[in-house]
Amino acid sequence: MFGLYIHIPFCESKCSYCGFYSTADKRRLGSYLKAVFNEAEARKAEKIDTLYIGGGTPSVFSAKEIVKFSDDLSGVYNFSHLKEATLEVNPEHIANCGDYLRILHEETPVTRVSMGVQSFNDNDLKFLGRIHNAQTAINAIEKILNADIELSIDLIYGIPTLTNEIWKNNLQFLKQFGLNHFSAYSLTVEPNTAFAKRQIPLDEDTTLQQYGILQEWCAANNYEQYEISNYARAEHYALHNCNYWNLSPYIGLGAGAHSYSGFTACSQTKAARRWNINNIEQYISNPANSYEQEFLTETDTFHEYIMTALRTKWGVQKSMLQKFSIPFQIHFNKISAPLLRNKTLTETEQAYILAKNSIPLADAVAEMFFFNFA
Ligand code: SF4
Repeated sequence: MFGLYIHIPFCESKCSYCGFYSTADKRRLGSYLKAVFNEAEARKAEKIDTLYIGGGTPSVFSAKEIVKFSDDLSGVYNFSHLKEATLEVNPEHIANCGDYLRILHEETPVTRVSMGVQSFNDNDLKFLGRIHNAQTAINAIEKILNADIELSIDLIYGIPTLTNEIWKNNLQFLKQFGLNHFSAYSLTVEPNTAFAKRQIPLDEDTTLQQYGILQEWCAANNYEQYEISNYARAEHYALHNCNYWNLSPYIGLGAGAHSYSGFTACSQTKAARRWNINNIEQYISNPANSYEQEFLTETDTFHEYIMTALRTKWGVQKSMLQKFSIPFQIHFNKISAPLLRNKTLTETEQAYILAKNSIPLADAVAEMFFFNFA
């Protein structure tokens, strides 16, 4: 599977918790898509399986601009094998969007929309610095579903204003709208955000309680936690994200976008990770060459694989472990033995999987496997 990610680093305003590369300064909006197209022309790929236009807020662009961009891109990439094409949107753009979704549906490959709702409570939204309110989110959801486009929404728990009752109420909206997919993140205070400057205190106990409420609610309502922050009904998994977790290759276009050449544990042909510069002006002035790159050692790849695989329901696959050299396999067996004994990990014929109650500790467990084989 091969993914194409396009980063749109513009937003209507900057949310207080957001650590993503994005800006509310839209002066460069007009020249940005042209620059991304120029980068695309310099970075061809044979076949694209999944497309994800994220940000930022891609819906800052009009439907006409997205159609033109999508037409231009289809002259560079072959989209005829696309299995999924997602556009990130924000409720304020969609609630009163006129023909936006119909045009998207009919004139672009987009089949799926991911929308940052975060909460259905106005106090939480205000606290997070979001510019939409709950009613706007509800109107936007109805519009997307009426346009027959697959929808996933993002929710956040652990917000200081979010009570357990409100959290339960937020989850009920998923059922009310019959959504097949959602992502739920615990609020974190990222460096260089408004929350970091204000030193917003987070209550770990409440966050854990709300994580527990989420698990119970999902079990009762047939949502499967297939990754630490992602939930689906009836296997409606987000394919583009699954590709990241499987260490499949992808091209990332746009300021701040990352690219990856794909899993290899072979020390001769190292995997490459590349990241475009986090600066819109510099990116626009030379879109194909404003990047840095590193080549991953087998140790880097081993750490990355364990880190991502433990967060998913598929776990660390034995077939993947066998691709690493013998010292890595011995190391994995040594570290996993006590974790299997104390039931942090379970072993199946194909994989080592984190026990349900250890999922919140996925990163800490993964770090136990970190080792320098230099
Ligand atoms: S959270 Fe989303 S909408 Fe808010 S600033 Fe970040 S990317 Fe933009």
